Amino acid sequence: MDADLVLSNGRVVDGCGNPWYWGDLAVDRGHIAAIAPARTLRGEQVIDLEGRFVAPGFVDVHTHSDLSILINRRAESVVRQGVTTEVIGNCGMSPAPIEGTHLPEMQAQWGSISEQPEITWAWRSFGDYLGVLEDGGLAINIASLAGHGALRIAVMGLEEREPTAAQMGQMEVLLEEAMVAGAFGLSTGLVYPPGCFASTLEIIHLCRVAARFGGLYASHVRGERETILEAVAEAIQIGREAGLPVQISHNAPKYGAPCDARANLRLVDEARARGQDVTVDNDVHTDLGPALTGALPQALQERPAAEIAALLSDAGSRQRIRQEIELDQRPAFGPASLLKHGQWQRITVLRAPASGDAIGRTIEEIAQDRSQVPFDVYFDLIVENGHKAEGIFHYIDERNIRLLLEHPAVMVCSDGQVLAPYGFLNDPPPYSPCSYGEFPGVLERYVRDEPVLRLEEAIRKMTSFPAQRFGLLDRGMLRPGARADLVVFDLDRIRDRATDLPPHTFPLENYPHRYPEGIDYVFVNGTLVVEGERHTGALPGQLLRLPLPVVTA
Ligand SMILES: [Zn+2]
Repeated sequence: MDADLVLSNGRVVDGCGNPWYWGDLAVDRGHIAAIAPARTLRGEQVIDLEGRFVAPGFVDVHTHSDLSILINRRAESVVRQGVTTEVIGNCGMSPAPIEGTHLPEMQAQWGSISEQPEITWAWRSFGDYLGVLEDGGLAINIASLAGHGALRIAVMGLEEREPTAAQMGQMEVLLEEAMVAGAFGLSTGLVYPPGCFASTLEIIHLCRVAARFGGLYASHVRGERETILEAVAEAIQIGREAGLPVQISHNAPKYGAPCDARANLRLVDEARARGQDVTVDNDVHTDLGPALTGALPQALQERPAAEIAALLSDAGSRQRIRQEIELDQRPAFGPASLLKHGQWQRITVLRAPASGDAIGRTIEEIAQDRSQVPFDVYFDLIVENGHKAEGIFHYIDERNIRLLLEHPAVMVCSDGQVLAPYGFLNDPPPYSPCSYGEFPGVLERYVRDEPVLRLEEAIRKMTSFPAQRFGLLDRGMLRPGARADLVVFDLDRIRDRATDLPPHTFPLENYPHRYPEGIDYVFVNGTLVVEGERHTGALPGQLLRLPLPVVTA
């Protein structure tokens, strides 16, 4: 019998780190049916790969597509990179569970996307939300973590205090429900409200629930700059005391850290040497494009623009806000360090509809022109533009990106989300090169142009390693019987069209973002989703659920 499909005469990169080999790969009913020497297999449809590489579809363990995938179920920016599975619910942010009276706080966490018609907020439990994801079809496979922030908002809103014993119990029940529904573990975002209000012990209690179901703990730790080492140590402690694996999220030291990445990775190595299962993910972009309001003190960030403008227009409160940023007593969002440390040459204005002359210039340059202190320029841009003022914050040293890439316990993630160059997700185009170019960018810049990684090692960090981390043992490797999530790429042609390397000169070459080049075919569960420049419209992705533990009598 012929297989449904044969990918013939490719260079097979198996996902495990082994050297590539020439082969044919047969796909039947969504699975890899056979792998054999090149030009030996027969199928109803045969695609001659002409020596291009075929690898498992990429698995992105750190994304924020929770709501955007509901707007774009084709997962455009993601699947065109060769990503076939995403993990959502990261950094403490999942859009479920919801307790009705706290829905407004939940919606505020997600910003303007929460007002889109596709986001009905009709779900309440975590299981309801997974059902909504599943029912409308998905181009890629999705696995989800339960966000600690969601649990806390459901029980106590955004209150800055310890939960009562009863509230702690309620959070545990909600997490248990999420785990039964298929969550892969718990995530925290300990620099964002409400995660930053939680004690270590609160997280340990919750992680014990996730541990009973075989879940893991994924953490955006409590500060990735001045306090990075204490924060990584806390994550490791939580895993040790709760008895579950730890995934430290996007763990590059940010500007202001007292060390380079070797120091935080040493803590990971030491934990592993003691027998504790700790791994790390990271993306390879050195900048981020948030709203300027995103680097204000946490209590201010989410307030309506008019309220923020009123505060910043009053000389006394402007001075107090400046002091709070400079003192930065609770290590906040990474880019805020550039304000704290006066790194104004590292902040370039990307968007400011009411201050057109500012675009493409650094805060330092604007300050010189206007003969103002940079802090006042920064605040004035917020007064003039509200949440619509956005900057490119260059806050990571690329040396740390390389150190992380080279470490065997670090996998590649995007920290991006499903975007598309059309519709709401492009209105206006967010600065998010990681959402369009992460995986091709690694292959282009750190494998082909500069040999930081062997090809096979880079692919391992994008496939079998992240799949193994989340218990997806039938994905991430090319073996007969595995799910046929596949990507075919041409390493010579691969090109990320979304990343501009600093220093930024305007107009940016790769912005607005475009899809990468050189990703020629992407199959999800055996179905073709990307063929060259074309998305087929197919939605063959699966909603993945962590299997409940098998109890042996
Ligand atoms: Zn994060």
